[in-house]
Amino acid sequence: MSTELTISKAPAGVEGPGFFATNIDKVIGLARSNSIWPLPFATSCCGIEFMATMGSNYDLARFGSERISFSPRQADLLIVAGTIAKKMGPVLRQVYLQMAEPRWVISVGACASSGGIFDTYSVLQGIDKVIPVDVYVPGCPPRPEQIIDGFMKIQELVKNEPVRRRNTDEYKALMEQYGIQ
Ligand code: SF4
Repeated sequence: MSTELTISKAPAGVEGPGFFATNIDKVIGLARSNSIWPLPFATSCCGIEFMATMGSNYDLARFGSERISFSPRQADLLIVAGTIAKKMGPVLRQVYLQMAEPRWVISVGACASSGGIFDTYSVLQGIDKVIPVDVYVPGCPPRPEQIIDGFMKIQELVKNEPVRRRNTDEYKALMEQYGIQ
C-alpha cells in the first residue's frame, strides 16, 4: 500500500494572483466529506469486517474518519453492518433519529441491505424498511475494500450535497415516507 500523502483537491473555482473564489456549498462539502464521524451499528459478521476496515492495514483514518462515535448526537454517518432482527428495527430507527442533520447511512452487506440469507419471520428484510439509506455495500461479507468503496461514495455524496438540500420539498417528502418530520 502506498505511503504517499495526498491532499484533498481544491473545489472548482476561479483563481488568479493572490485570490481564489468558489461557492460556499463546495467549501462546506469539502470540509464535511473529509471529516465524517461514523457510528458503527454492528450486530454480526459484517461488523467484524468493519473492524478490519478501521485497523492499521486499511485504516479509515486516511479519510479523516478515525473518530468513531458511539453517541448518535456526535455522529453524522450511520454504518449498519450485520443482521437486523425486526425487534432491533425500532432501536436502529431511534439511533437514526437521535443523529443531527445532515446525516448519512451506509448499509453494509447483504443482511443489512435485504435480510441476506435470513428470509425468516424474525429478520428485517432490509434496513430501508425503517430508515433511508444512501449507499448499499454488497457482499456476504463485503471485504474492507468494498466498505471503503462505499465510504468513498458517501464522501462524494457529502462533497456534492447543497447546503440547503435538507430544506427541500423532495427531502421532506423522503422523510415523510418514513414518518419522520
Ligand atoms: S451479510 Fe453475511 S457476513 Fe454480513 S452479517 Fe449477513 S451473514 Fe454475516
